[in-house]
Amino acid sequence: MNKIAVLPGDGIGPEIIAEALKVLDALKADGLEIEWQEAPIGGAGYDAAGKPLPDDTLNLARQADAVLLGAVGGPQYDTLERDLRPERGLLAIRQELSLFSNLRPAILYPQLADASSLKHDLVAGLNIMIVRELTGGIYFGQPRGIRDLDSGEQQGYNTMVYSESEIERIARSAFDIAQVRGKKLCSVDKANVLEVSELWRETVDRVAKDYPEVEVSHMYVDNAAMQLVRAPKQFDVMVTTNLFGDILSDIAAMLTGSIGMLPSASLDAQGKGMYEPVHGSAPDIAGKDAANPLATILSVAMMLRYSLGETAAADRIEDAVGKVLSQGLRTADIAAEGDKTIGTKAMGDAVVAAL
Ligand code: NAD
Repeated sequence: MNKIAVLPGDGIGPEIIAEALKVLDALKADGLEIEWQEAPIGGAGYDAAGKPLPDDTLNLARQADAVLLGAVGGPQYDTLERDLRPERGLLAIRQELSLFSNLRPAILYPQLADASSLKHDLVAGLNIMIVRELTGGIYFGQPRGIRDLDSGEQQGYNTMVYSESEIERIARSAFDIAQVRGKKLCSVDKANVLEVSELWRETVDRVAKDYPEVEVSHMYVDNAAMQLVRAPKQFDVMVTTNLFGDILSDIAAMLTGSIGMLPSASLDAQGKGMYEPVHGSAPDIAGKDAANPLATILSVAMMLRYSLGETAAADRIEDAVGKVLSQGLRTADIAAEGDKTIGTKAMGDAVVAAL
C-alpha cells in the first residue's frame, strides 16, 4: 500500500488539494493501492501548533512514501518573526527530507499555445526540464542577517555557498534526466563574477566525463534569462543553483502561458519526493473557486510516476488533463479572451470524468 502525506497549506492550497484528492479517489476506486493522511504546514501549521513545520507534520512526511503539498503563505502571516513565517516551513521540510533536486518541467500543451505571451512558433511544442538545486546556496548559506554598522546604518547580508559534493549530486541528478530525454544539458551560473560559480562550472565539467552521450554547455544566468524568452526551444535540460533556478523556472513557467498548469517534484537521493504546484498560495483568489487545480493534479501524476512507480495511473491523469483542455474547458488563468471559464471544482470534476 502506498502511503502519502497530504499537506494542503494556505490560501488556495486546500482548494486545489481537494481536487487532486478527488482524482486520487477515482483512481483508488479503480484499484490503485493508496492511502493518505493530511497535516498542516505553513500558516496552517503556525495556527495549529505555533510553527510552520509542526513536529507531527514532519514525522508524517518522514514515514510516507511521498508528500503532496498545496502551497503556503498569506498576508496575515507576513508580520510574524521570520522563523515563524509559512515559507520557512517549506524550506525546512525540503531540508529535513534532503530534497535537493527540484524538477520543474515547462511543457506547453498544444491546446494552450495561444495563452503564452510569446509568439506561437517560438513556444509551440516547448518541453524544458529545469533542475534546480534546492537545499543549498544563498537561501541557506551562513552567515546571514541584518547588522548595525559603526557608521550607524544597517547592512543586510547573505552568503552564497556550494560545496563540491552538493554540486556533484545535483549535476548527476540533471545528467541522469538529460540521458533519458534529449541528451542536452545546459548548466547555468555566473562564473564571470562569482567564485562559487567557478567551482560549480569545474565540478559540472568533471561529472560530465561520466556521461559521454550528453552534450553539455554552460551559460551565464543573465544570458540564460534572455535566451529563455528569445529562443526557448534551444533548451532540453537546464541545471542551476537554488537562487538562479527560482527565477529561471518562473520565467519558463510563464512561457507556457500559466503558472497554474505547472507541477514540480523535489527528490532525495533515493527518489522519495515531495510534489507540489510551482505556484504559490494566490491569496488574491483564495476562497473564490477561481484557482486552476491542474498543476496540483499534474503533480499527483509526477508523484505516481517518480516515487510510486504507478506509471499507468500517471499516464491516465496526464491523458485526462489533455482531454479536458481539448474539450475547451478553461479556468480564468488559461482562458483566451472571450472564452467561457469554469471554477476550481468544475475543473476537478471534469478531470475525474475524463479519467
Ligand atoms: P502566487 O504564485 O501565489 O501568485 C502569483 C499570481 O498567479 C497571482 O495573481 C495568482 O492569483 C496567480 N495564480 C497562482 N496560482 C494560480 C492558480 N493555481 N490558478 C490561477 N491563478 C493562479 O505568487 P505570489 O503572489 O508571489 O505569492 C503569494 C503567496 O504565496 C506568498 O505568501 C508567497 O510567499 C507564497 N508562495 C508560496 C509558494 C509555495 O508554497 N511553493 C511559492 C511561491 C509563493
